[in-house]
This record gives sequence, structure tokens and C-alpha cells, in this order.
Amino acid sequence: MSGFPALNHDHGHCRADGLAAAEKLCEERGTRLTPLRRQVLDVLLAQHRAMGAYDIAQEMGAQETGVAEGSSKRAPAAMTVYRTLDFLMSMGLVHKLESLNAFIACAEPGETHPVQFLICRQCGRVAELESEAITETVTRAAQKVGFEVDAPVIELTGRCPDCRQAARA
Ligand SMILES: [Zn+2]
Ligand SMILES: [Zn+2]
Ligand SMILES: [Zn+2]
Repeated sequence: MSGFPALNHDHGHCRADGLAAAEKLCEERGTRLTPLRRQVLDVLLAQHRAMGAYDIAQEMGAQETGVAEGSSKRAPAAMTVYRTLDFLMSMGLVHKLESLNAFIACAEPGETHPVQFLICRQCGRVAELESEAITETVTRAAQKVGFEVDAPVIELTGRCPDCRQAARA
């Protein structure tokens, strides 16, 4: 799904779909969505918001993880979360938002795709646009000045449809 999900969308479904797509993708590529990888991804899928590695670790610590040793819920080390995020990014399941130093679950996992992030400054939700045209234009403009673009990631801040609607009401 590209663009902002409506506030009242079936998020349980959307989250489950995200996990199922990730399982399938890992299987197809001969790797595994280990419990740790699954958990990190699920924390990101739980909200349409970008989260920093530290916040992800905190959230994981707050969840009942079902780990055998004792009842203490311990947050994983930030390094563990970073390593796991690296894997998830290499699989195209997670994107990094450089401006926020935060991560978001990909809305269209599988193929590598151009991505422009729409970041709502009011509610903090993030959605993806996947416009080839924008990427091409930016890449070509950069080439004209002799600049080679690695990853043309574009981050746009503004207000999402729901927040604009609320402001009008
Ligand atoms: Zn959702
Ligand atoms: Zn994506
Ligand atoms: Zn918003």
C-alpha cells in the first residue's frame, strides 16, 4: 500500500500481512525470520511511525517476550537491534529515515523500489510514495552536476490527510 492508510483501517490485518509477507520473503531467499528479527519487525509494523533503535529496544523490553530465563523483561542491547535492522533493511523489509535517524517497516516489501517518505509533522505517521518519475528526475538532475546518487531517498514533511481533516473540522 502506498500513501497514507486511513486512520480507521484494519490495522490488525495490515500488521499480520506485513509479518506474513516477511516470512514468505525470507523463505524465498533461503533465510529465516528468526524470533528476534520477527520481533523487531513487529514493533515497527505495530505503528505507521518511524522509530529509533533505542525506542525499538525499549518497546521489545516492555513486551512479554516469552524468553525462558526468569520473568524479567529485558530490552535487547542497541547493537543487537542495529544488527537486526541491518538484516531487515538488506531484505527490503525496513527503510531508514536519515533525517530522523529512525526506521520504518516497508509498505511494499519484496522488490527494491524508489521511495519518497511522507512524514506527518503532526501525528508522526509516515507513508511511502514509490514514484519512479521523482527518482529519475532527481537522479538526472544530480548527474547533470556530476553527482552520482547512491540511494535517492527523499523525505517530505507536512500534514497527512487525517490531520488536515481534523484541522478543518
Ligand atoms: Zn496498518
Ligand atoms: Zn518500501
Ligand atoms: Zn498526521
